[in-house]
Amino acid sequence: MGPHERADVLVVGAGLAGLHAATLLARRGHDVLLAERRPGLGGAIRTTGIFVRKTLDDFPLPPDCLGPPIRRVVLHPPSLRRPVTLDSGRDEYRVGDMGELYRAAARAATDAGVRLALGTRYSGRGEDHSLLTGPDGPVRVRARFVVGADGARSRVARDLGLDRNRHLLVGAEEVFAVPGSAEPPAFHCVLDPSLAPGYLAWVVNDGEHAHVGVAGYADRFPDGLRRAVQRFGASAPGLSGVSRPDDVELRGGPIPVGGLLRRIGCTDGLLVGDAAGAVSPLTAGGLDPCLRLSEHAADVLDEALRTGRPAAIDRYDGAALRASFRGRLLLRRGLAQVRTPAMATAAFTALRTPVGQAAARRILFGDRSFPAPG
Ligand SMILES: Cc1cc2nc3c(=O)[nH]c(=O)nc-3n(C[C@H](O)[C@H](O)[C@H](O)COP(=O)(O)OP(=O)(O)OC[C@H]3O[C@@H](n4cnc5c(N)ncnc54)[C@H](O)[C@@H]3O)c2cc1C
Repeated sequence: MGPHERADVLVVGAGLAGLHAATLLARRGHDVLLAERRPGLGGAIRTTGIFVRKTLDDFPLPPDCLGPPIRRVVLHPPSLRRPVTLDSGRDEYRVGDMGELYRAAARAATDAGVRLALGTRYSGRGEDHSLLTGPDGPVRVRARFVVGADGARSRVARDLGLDRNRHLLVGAEEVFAVPGSAEPPAFHCVLDPSLAPGYLAWVVNDGEHAHVGVAGYADRFPDGLRRAVQRFGASAPGLSGVSRPDDVELRGGPIPVGGLLRRIGCTDGLLVGDAAGAVSPLTAGGLDPCLRLSEHAADVLDEALRTGRPAAIDRYDGAALRASFRGRLLLRRGLAQVRTPAMATAAFTALRTPVGQAAARRILFGDRSFPAPG
């Protein structure tokens, strides 16, 4: 890249949201520059990578980048005694090999014509340009539109004067290879606010990899998030016969759970993925929402570029889509109120009833996904 560049669209951030939006736009013939601050896409991963059935049905993810199907969810109270096991008749989840998956998505992007600039940080906006800092120094980019795909604490959102995430959890996990197991692949969730304040601790063991993680409100961890992951790892369920190696991969990051932001587009650009708050406030799943919102973003930008009318972006309306998050926001508020193990144990009794289990099945095995724009 030279010190001055032009593009139809500058996409900031090569997570799944940015890679998908960039690829779709390039496939429609637009000149797309995708700037990512990480020097490579296989490191500093910020997700467990659990893909739900609806995503696997609707998006052609490369099968060799996906782990074995998971049909079992095991819900645990704080004591870890008498868990509730829910089995589905269908393949509900698969865990992505995220390093490989990002690299495959990057190949698809460059094949489509996207100019991918790794090791290149977006650092602000001037009157008619965006400023990047790449391996060879500063670059001024004049782009018709900027797409903020730069994660939960989006700098682009701030610079475009759009809404920003205020309601965040933090999550962290250890990932390691496991030997094949006699147990079926399973997703264990532990409801214990002393371990995961306001959310859950989890173990995903698909027989190839184990992910042992914790998420919650940053200011409520008694001795920090990292320590909570270690404490949980010492007694985590779903790992019988598995010994944790010394060398584990660490992942983590913020998770916006305040629901889709209202103002996510303007005449200069728009936000996708975590930057737009496109994460389920209840499950904290953001992979399905980021893919779906990027499709909508590519549609409106394509129209704006083809017609020369930035007003096409008015259709990119977070406030309208947000309405369908109401129920999940209410449940999030409920989960945030569970502050002690005693409260969690009491709440857990509901999961032992048929009504409670039916509700859990609807959330865990349901067909709902990110709302399609009307
Ligand atoms: C611990 C954890 C586990 C999770 N597990 C799951 C799960 O199993 N399933 C699920 O559905 N969801 C999960 N989520 C949520 C999900 O991972 C995210 O919603 C999703 O990955 C968001 O993708 P994104 O592309 O919007 O953001 P990101 O993947 O965060 O990508 C943002 C990119 O922007 C880059 N960037 C940031 N600032 C700049 C800058 N100034 N210049 C250039 N580049 C920049 C970053 O380096 C990054 O590559 C999890 C989240 C966490 C934190």
